[in-house]
Amino acid sequence: MITVSVSASENYNVLIGRGILADVGKLCADKLKNTKKILVVSDSNVTPLYTAKVKKSFTEAGFETYTLTFEAGEENKTLETFGNIAESAARLGFCRDDAFAALGGGVTGDITGFAAACYMRGIKYVQIPTTLLAAIDSSVGGKTGVDLPEGKNLVGAFHQPSAVVFDPEVLSTLPEKELRNGLGEGIKYAVLKGGRIKEIIQSGLNPENLEEFCALCVKYKSEIVSRDEKESGVRQLLNLGHTLGHAEEKLSGYKISHGEAIACGIYIMAKASKNKGTLSERAFEEIVGMLEKTNLLRESEIGKEELVAAAATDKKNHADGLNVVTVRDTGDCRIEKMSLKELGEYIK
Ligand code: ADP
Ligand code: ZN
Repeated sequence: MITVSVSASENYNVLIGRGILADVGKLCADKLKNTKKILVVSDSNVTPLYTAKVKKSFTEAGFETYTLTFEAGEENKTLETFGNIAESAARLGFCRDDAFAALGGGVTGDITGFAAACYMRGIKYVQIPTTLLAAIDSSVGGKTGVDLPEGKNLVGAFHQPSAVVFDPEVLSTLPEKELRNGLGEGIKYAVLKGGRIKEIIQSGLNPENLEEFCALCVKYKSEIVSRDEKESGVRQLLNLGHTLGHAEEKLSGYKISHGEAIACGIYIMAKASKNKGTLSERAFEEIVGMLEKTNLLRESEIGKEELVAAAATDKKNHADGLNVVTVRDTGDCRIEKMSLKELGEYIK
């Protein structure tokens, strides 16, 4: 088992290891000392696969364990589902010291984390990611929230988990499309950090290197989050590929997945930097190679002007311009302030 420690407003560990799902109760116990009750939240795809195992593990570790299942799908990442979780907890008599466990992908993690952030003004929760995307990205860092009809993640809070427990064996049931979705974020880390993360993508992810890969991604993210929990500075590096990626996702009516879209966003930025001469041909070819290897190399069907116009409505924008992440080399990305017009020029 690999342990990555995260120091944010709350310090916690990310535990990664094959087969550790069966021990999740024991592994979380010392972080949940005063907790009597646990509510395990998962969606309708994940519940039949893993909830019984997780419930048994928490029960054996001495917790009074309850479960709640919501209908799978991003369209259920709503205030209504959030309300159901909170109301269930209230009916079950959950108090300040009790906790939630988010068993699932990013949707489950975001919504359960948000319910934990709000129930009784904040109770503990643990993350048990079951997608690659959640394991290397959304389960770490404390961003929680739900969507509104008006836009994604418009209501939310920062609330750090007490522990993250990831068993890579759960990826064996994950559909290929969802795996690729996570690989988009994986490429992001490879471009941001370079080194071993890049090597693993280049050689191909496999069951032997998966744990190491996830641990390195989480370690990189946790270092950034430790330095900038609320995303006012260096954490914005994690938005590499996201300015244009979010725009493409939105314009496609979310038919293009997050991972596919940000991979395309990274590709557009890298190509622009190569054309400007700030990214070498070698580094550009490396990035293209990684995108090819993961089946994520693609030209956007949406025009660049349209992408830039859609980027203008992103909630991450500030009045004085966009913070865009540019690529100098693999392992060397920078945050640069640009107006919309400048971004349009940059990627032309
Ligand atoms: P993310 O935001 O991490 O991509 P979601 O929560 O949207 O994740 O999950 C993606 C889809 O995969 C959902 O339909 C979910 O029910 C399903 N899913 C999550 N984990 C697993 C798993 N380990 N095996 C099979 N399906 C899974
Ligand atoms: Zn992302």
